Amino acid sequence: MANEEKQIKMIMNGVVIDHIPNEHFLKILQLLRLDKIKNPVAVGFNLTSNRLGTKAIIKMDNGYFTPQQKANIALFAHGATYNIIEGGEVVSKEVLTPTEEVNSRLICPNSRCVSRVYKSTFIPCLNDDGSKVEAICKYCELQFSLADLKEFVK
Ligand SMILES: [Zn+2]
Repeated sequence: MANEEKQIKMIMNGVVIDHIPNEHFLKILQLLRLDKIKNPVAVGFNLTSNRLGTKAIIKMDNGYFTPQQKANIALFAHGATYNIIEGGEVVSKEVLTPTEEVNSRLICPNSRCVSRVYKSTFIPCLNDDGSKVEAICKYCELQFSLADLKEFVK
């Protein structure tokens, strides 16, 4: 195990999401509403990664994320690994790819979009050269970069 992973306590049962790109990590934390989760959650940011340079990690003890939370993470952390841990062993490892619709606390950047009063639903897609994940608003059907999606605040 790499050194940096020892900086965060091992868990016996739960979920470890590894190789999360630093770039959108704060947005992921907002969307997960960690303040509403009762299980212990450990978060690591700016950790050294051979693949990404720097990365972030989220570990949840004795609990799992909902499918919608997982879809949110996949949108903003394409390529991250989603590991389910049982009895201290990894029993399932999945590379996250944004495929599911994301229905969360995000609003559409288009100021004329009908979804701004509520919240929007976004469909993941790739940008023109296929290098970056972007999102299409289900209501106005415009495509946006992830950095432009803002949290819905009432
Ligand atoms: Zn829209």
